[in-house]
Formats: sequence, structure tokens, C-alpha cells
Amino acid sequence: FSTDVIRNFSIIAHIDHGKSTLADRLLELTGTIDKKQSGKNEQVLDKLKVERERGITVKAQTASMFEEINGKKHLLNLIDTPGHVDFAWEVSRSLAACQGAILLVDASQGIQAQSISVFHVAKDRGVKIIPVLNKIDLPAAQPERIKAQLESTFGIDPSEALYISAKTGEGVADVLKAIVDRVPPPPEPQDISTNAPLKALLFDSFYDRYRGVISLVSIQHGVLQKGDKIMSCHTRKKYEVMEVGIMYPEETPTTALYPGQVGYVACNMKESSEAHIGDTLHRVGEKVEPLAGFKPTKAMVFAGIFPVDASDFLKLEQSIARLTLTDRSVTVQRESSSALGQGCRLGFLGTLHMDVFRQRLEDEYDANIIVTAPTVPYKVVYKDKEIIISNPTDFPDMADSIGKVKEVQEPIVKASIIFPEEHFGEMMDLCYSHRAEDLNHTFLDAGTGAQTRIMLTCIIPLSEIVTDFFDQLKSRSSGFASFDYEDAGYKQSDLAKMVFLLNSKPVDALALVVHRSQQDLIGRAWVKKLHGVLRRQLFEISIQAAVGKKIISRETLSAVRADVTAGLYGGHYERKMKHLQNQKESKKKMKMVGNVELPQEAFFSILGNK
Ligand code: GDP
Ligand code: MG
Repeated sequence: FSTDVIRNFSIIAHIDHGKSTLADRLLELTGTIDKKQSGKNEQVLDKLKVERERGITVKAQTASMFEEINGKKHLLNLIDTPGHVDFAWEVSRSLAACQGAILLVDASQGIQAQSISVFHVAKDRGVKIIPVLNKIDLPAAQPERIKAQLESTFGIDPSEALYISAKTGEGVADVLKAIVDRVPPPPEPQDISTNAPLKALLFDSFYDRYRGVISLVSIQHGVLQKGDKIMSCHTRKKYEVMEVGIMYPEETPTTALYPGQVGYVACNMKESSEAHIGDTLHRVGEKVEPLAGFKPTKAMVFAGIFPVDASDFLKLEQSIARLTLTDRSVTVQRESSSALGQGCRLGFLGTLHMDVFRQRLEDEYDANIIVTAPTVPYKVVYKDKEIIISNPTDFPDMADSIGKVKEVQEPIVKASIIFPEEHFGEMMDLCYSHRAEDLNHTFLDAGTGAQTRIMLTCIIPLSEIVTDFFDQLKSRSSGFASFDYEDAGYKQSDLAKMVFLLNSKPVDALALVVHRSQQDLIGRAWVKKLHGVLRRQLFEISIQAAVGKKIISRETLSAVRADVTAGLYGGHYERKMKHLQNQKESKKKMKMVGNVELPQEAFFSILGNK
């Protein structure tokens, strides 16, 4: 293989703009998969059950195909990227192995928030961008208008845009030709002999039950073959290569991987933690400079996960460990709660990431869990140190620590929202009610005479968007608004810890960090919810929300005089015993806070767990 017949490319797009459908068509057109396989509109690259169900791509996947173009057989490596804002990091690492990207835009919807963010990631990476307008079969498609949008928003020359329907296949062959004609081949290595020093960029990995960790690599220099003794620049661990090959679209062994190629390597790696994304693999005994790596992932949302049945903890912990093998962007720590027992505190890239992980735990590991309210990493600044807090329980009580704590800060993000002009008022309201600042807006298709779309940017606390922001955005814009955000650091903020007390005993798993301007509202709402889900007991229960020593809200649940055996006539002994036994059983599942019983369902309904 000479590198001039290799092309490494990605498809980048806003969610639902047709990336998976186009990937299927490309694999079909090149004979990599047959029509029957993809005929049921099943997306070949979306492997996980959650991906199929939600129609989103979570993990980047890779596939190679061969096609004769311009009279030469080419090897085209497609590196799939996830479309959701939570996974922007995966987009960036996938692009590191590419020289080109197809920017796919739905011709009936136009540029959306993630079209913009993925465009910028691609531009920063310096890859060649091919603009492609999809869904031209739809009557609502307005490719001319979208072309103008591409020009005004990204400065893309309209003559470069291709028109396709990934659904019908129209124009898809031109996409393949454009990839070969416009995307540069991977850089030519100075020395292509098999004994040239090896440099392989590790850009993804997955776990295989039989072969252990399989790493996806992009060969930058040298040749990688079975039997090679290789080493990681990062861990200095040594491995013997058992198998190399390409994703065609599943793992297909080859004798070697050459410079510019993208493929997989199985080398008896036991733990996924050994496969560092961005690591450079080289041969034992050869000295190489490591390739420029990646920014490490940063957990933005944390939540506690507890087993419903406390005796399931070890099983849960094991399931979480297995699942994090396939998704290393999740961070895990043990956590214990007096109300919920042993559990784990997990860190995620965003709330969708959290939902997907939770769903996979339930689907693939049959886990029965309680997930606490999501929280963001707060920063507490002391005179001599700064601490990041990922669990509200650890947040200092400001009243006790005056003098010691200099200030508290919360993470903020720069948000961009794109929506049709008619929703301007609602979108401004939404932002203001979520503590947004620095609001700015621009018109996306100024001067085209068409119905105008607005791009609104603002700085907003991350904690505001991990709760109901996305749902409200969708409902207030009738589904027409799209949204994306990027990290914008930390900002001083007037925050406080809110705790909930049952007969004066705090329920640790329900602690929250709130902004003081919202404490009354949140306190009242949660106390009301608790009041609604608690069962009455033989004594009165006081339910309180407190910030520091101050009670924000209070409700009382009156006592009930319930003798469970009272309704049973005649003192039928056996029956009475059975009833008491049942009650004992159900008590076992009950969490106790002081003398108050907190039923499982209470946690479910308060925390919004299905
Ligand atoms: P992804 O989220 O970018 O991977 O998008 P998908 O490939 O899953 O496509 C989203 C939806 O758009 C699916 O229902 C597809 O069937 C549909 N779709 C994709 N391409 C086309 C197209 O060219 N025309 C039409 N009419 N629908 C399409
Ligand atoms: Mg998809």
C-alpha cells in the first residue's frame, strides 16, 4: 500500500442529520456490507442497544472500505463520530486520525447547534471539510438556502457543496469521489520499510471477551505486524502483537498495518485502563517521540448510584467496572450514604452520557438502582487551597466555615442556541430564568428573505443545564431549538448546601447545592414532594428543608393510628402472624432515616428515577 491511495475521513453532523444512514450507504456502495444487512434501516455502525433505541451514536466506530476511483483501488477508512454535545471530546479524538471530514447538514433543517460545534472542532484539527447537504428527497428541503447559510456562517464556498439523499442513495457515489479528490492522503512517511521505527496513535479501544482489550490505532510511521513486541509510551508496559487488522466493518485480520492505515491491534492487554487514548505505541527497543495526545476527559456531571437492595452492592460495583471498560470517560469512586448504604459516585461528560450509562447498566447488567440528583463539580476556595467537590454532602456549611472559606465557585459554560425567530421571546426567558449572562444574538440567514433563524449565545452555570434546561428548550420552541455548549471555566457564585430533614435527621442522599436566589423555591418544591411520597406513620413526621441553620420550608405529615391487625377479625392467630411477617419483609426494603421509614418509591419519585 502506498499512502496516496488511502483516505481517512469522518462524518460530522448535528444529531439526526443522517450520519449513520450515510455511513450505511457508503458501506453498501463499496460492497463492504450487502444490501440485505442494512436493508431494514438498521444502522450498521450503531452497535449498542441504547444507540439503536435512541438513534444516537455514543462510541465512535471505525470501518474500512475499498473502492476503485479514478482508475485506482483506494482504501477508505471511515471513522464515525458521535453527534451529541456530551461527546464532543470523542469527536475531537476521532478526527485526530483523519485528514478529512464530511460536514453533513440536513437540507430541510439547516445548520444546527452541533453543526457549528463539530465544524469548529474539525477546523481546529485542520482537516479538509466537505460540505454535504442531505435529505434532498424531502419536499421541505431547501438546499440553496442552506448553502447560503454555510457560506455566511462558516465561509464555505457554495460551489463545494454536494447534494445527496442518504435515504435513496442519490448523490452518494459523488461523496466517495469527493473524498478521494479533495481529502489529502495521510502524510507520506519518510521511510516505509518494515523495519522503520513504528509510531501508532491509539485513538479508541473496546473490550473483547476472548482477546481482551482491542485498540484502534492510526499508523503514523513504520509497519505494525503480528509478533511485533510493542510498548506504550505512556505506561511503559510491553506487549506482543497477537493480531492486527482492519474494521471491514467488523474486525478482519490482515498481515500488517502500514503507514496511513487505521486498524485494530490485539496484544493481550488485560485491562482497558492500559489503553490510554492518545497514547503512542512503538516497538520495544526503538526510541520515539510520543505523538501529540489528547485533552483528557473532564467529568462535568456527577451522581451517586446505589443498589435498590443493599446486598447487591458488590454485583453493582462489578457491573459498573465492566461497563467502564467500554467507556473510560466515566469516573468511579465508592460512596456511602446513611440512607442508601454502599454505592458509587460516578462522573459523566453530561446528562445524556449519564442517562445512557444508566440505561446500559439496567439493560446489559440487569441492575436495579437508585440514582441521586445530578450535581456539577463545585470549587471551594480556602485561604491556602482549592477543593473540587463532586458530592453535595461534602459542601461546606457556609455558616460554620466563615473565615475559612474564601469563596465558592461553580462551573460555567458558553451555550449556543439556534432557533427560528418566532421563539425569540421564549428563548430569552428561558435563559434569564436559568441565570444566563452576556446574552448575544445573531441572525443566521440575514438577507435571504427566508424565515430567519437566530443564534443566541450566553454564559450559563452548568448546574442550570443539567436539570430541566434541555426539556424546556425543546418544549418552549416546539422542538425547533438546538443547543450546544462548551466549557468556560469557573465563576464565583452565591451557593449554599441545602439539606432535607425528617424529624430533624438529615437525609444525606438528598442534599443539594443551590444558588441562594433559588433556595426558597427549590426548598418548598422538594418538601412538598417528600410530603407527597412519605407514608404516614404512628407518629407525626416533620419534613424540613434547611440551609445552614435556617429552615427554608417545613411540612408536617400527621400520624396515623394503624394497627395492622386491627382489621382482622376473631384474632385468627396464623393469619395475624403472616401479616406481621409480611410487614417485616417489606420493612427490610425500607430505608430508615432516624425513626422515619423512607420507602424505596420515595427515592424513585423524588429523584425522578422512572
Ligand atoms: P444520525 O443521528 O446523524 O446518525 O442520523 P440517522 O442516520 O440516524 O438519520 C436520522 C433520521 O433521518 C432517520 O430516521 C433516517 O432514516 C432519516 N434520514 C437520513 N437520511 C435521510 C435522507 O436522505 N432522506 C430522508 N428523507 N430521511 C433521511
Ligand atoms: Mg447515528
